[in-house]
Amino acid sequence: MNNNNGNTRIHQLPTEPRHFDMFIDGQWTQGSALKQVTRMSPAHNVPVSQYPSGGVADVDQAVAAARRAFDHGLWAKSGADFRATVLLKTAALIRQNSEELALCETLETGKPINQSRGEVLGAAGIWEYAAGQARALHGDSFNNLGDNLLGLVTREPVGVVGLITPWNFPFFILAERLPFILASGCTVVVKPSELTSGTTLMLAGLLKQAGLPDGVVNVLTGPGSVVGQAISEHTDIDMVSFTGSTEVGRLTMAAAAGNMKKIGLELGGKNPQVVFADADLDAAADAIVFGICFNAGQCCVSGSRVVVHRSVEQLLTEKICSLMAKVRIGDPLSESTQVGSITEQRHIERILGYIEQGRKEGAVLVQGGARIDSAQGMYLQPTVFSEVTADMVIAREEIFGPVLTITAFDEFDEAIRLANDTPFGLAASIWSRDLETSLQATRQIKAGRVWVNTTIAGGPELPSGGFKQSGIGRETGRYGVEEYTELKSVHVQLGERPRWVEV
Ligand code: NDP
Repeated sequence: MNNNNGNTRIHQLPTEPRHFDMFIDGQWTQGSALKQVTRMSPAHNVPVSQYPSGGVADVDQAVAAARRAFDHGLWAKSGADFRATVLLKTAALIRQNSEELALCETLETGKPINQSRGEVLGAAGIWEYAAGQARALHGDSFNNLGDNLLGLVTREPVGVVGLITPWNFPFFILAERLPFILASGCTVVVKPSELTSGTTLMLAGLLKQAGLPDGVVNVLTGPGSVVGQAISEHTDIDMVSFTGSTEVGRLTMAAAAGNMKKIGLELGGKNPQVVFADADLDAAADAIVFGICFNAGQCCVSGSRVVVHRSVEQLLTEKICSLMAKVRIGDPLSESTQVGSITEQRHIERILGYIEQGRKEGAVLVQGGARIDSAQGMYLQPTVFSEVTADMVIAREEIFGPVLTITAFDEFDEAIRLANDTPFGLAASIWSRDLETSLQATRQIKAGRVWVNTTIAGGPELPSGGFKQSGIGRETGRYGVEEYTELKSVHVQLGERPRWVEV
C-alpha cells in the first residue's frame, strides 16, 4: 500500500464554506428553505459548501419557470444555431473556470484534483460535441409511398425535463445529459445530489453568462427523498432522467407513472472483466486495477468482477495485487494522488460491510480489506477477493467501492454465463488477442457498453446506458439528443385523395 501523504498541494483548504443559492427562472434564491445544509470535505473534514435545503414549493416554482420557458419562450422555437452558440459559449466558460470547478469538485467528492481537472475539461469537450449535435438533429422522409403520398418524420423536444444526478461524477455526468437535453430544445429542472451540488450551481452561473434565457435551466438543492421525489411525480414535467441506484431508479419509475412521463434511467452495474487465456495479462492487470480503483471504485462502469480462465488465474491475480500495492492513495488535493477519499461516511460503512460479507461467505481475501488510518478522510485499501462464486453477495450486488472479485472459468460458454449472471447489464471488458473470441464474447455479453482490450475508454460519440436492471434509454452520441425528443409521423396527401363515400 502506497499511502501518499506527499505535500504537493497547490490549493489551501477553505477557511469557511462557500454559500450557494438555488437558481430558479434566471435568479439566485434561497427559495422556501428554512435551513442550510453544510457539506464537509470527506477528505479533510472541514466545511466547504452550504446550500439551502429546498422543498416541494421550490420544485413547483422551478417547474412553472421551465414550463413557461418551454411553452412561450424562445429556446425551443429558435433555430438550432442559437442553441449551439449558447452551448459553445458555455464550454468556453467551463474551460476558463476549470480550476475553480475542479477544486469545488474535489472538495465535495474527495476525488483527486488531477482527476477533477480531467473531468471538467472532458465535460467542456462534451458541451462542444453536443453543440454540433444540436445542429445535426433531424428527422426523416419517405419518398417511396407512391405518387400521392409523402411521408415525413419530425423530431420535437419532449418538453420540460427533470434531471436528477448523483454524487460520484457530479459535473461529468451532468455534461453527459444537460447539453444534449438543451440541444434538443427542452427546458430543465436539475436536482444534483445534496452531497455535491456545488459545480452544478456554478454551471448555472456560467449558463446565464453564456446567454441562456431565464427559466431554461433551473437548479434546486435539497434532499432527494423530497425534491427528487417531487420532480419525479410532477405532472407538469414531461420526462425524467435519473442517474443513481437501482432502488431509487425503481421509485422514480413508479412516481413517473402518474402522468406517464417519458423516462431515462442510468443505474447500477456489476461489470465483468473477462480475461481469456491468450490475453496480454500485463495490459489486462493494469486496466483491471485502474477499472476498480478509479474514483475509489465509486463508478457505475467499474470493472468489479474478474472472470478469468483458470489456466492464468493465479498469474493474473499476482499481477493485479502487485500493481494495486503501488497505487498512490491519499489527500485528493495532492497533485500526485491517484485515489482519494470515499465520498461519504455512510458509504464507506456500506463498503466495509460488503468486505465483511465476502469473508463470511468464504471468499479468500488476497489484498486489502480495511480502512487506511488517517487523521481525517475516509480512505480504503483497494481490496481483492479470489475464489468467489457467482452466488455470493459480493459477486452479485453493486459495492461501489474498490473491491474486486475473481472467479475462474474453464470453457468459453461458462465465461459468458458468468459474465451475464447478475441482474445488471451496464458494461463489460473482454481481454483476448483472438478476434473470433473477442467478437463472439462481445455479441453474447448483455451490456450497454463493451470494451475490448481496454476499459472505461472513449468519448461522447458513442451512446452509453444499460441492459436489464442497469437502466432504460441512452445518453450521449446522436442518441443522447434523440432521447429527449418525440417523433411525429406526417403523411401528406399530394393530389386528390380517393373518396370513401360515393357521391
Ligand atoms: P441514490 O440513488 O439515493 O442517489 C442518486 C440521486 O437520486 C441523488 O441526487 C439523490 O439525491 C436522488 N434521490 C434520492 N432519493 C430520491 C427519490 N426518492 N426520488 C428521486 N431522487 C432521489 O444513490 P445513493 O447516493 O444512496 O448511493 C447508493 C448506491 O447507489 C451506491 O452505493 C451505488 O451502488 C449506486 N449509485 C449508482 C450511481 C451510478 O452512477 N449509476 C451513482 C450513485 C449511486 P440526494 O443525494 O440529495 O439524496
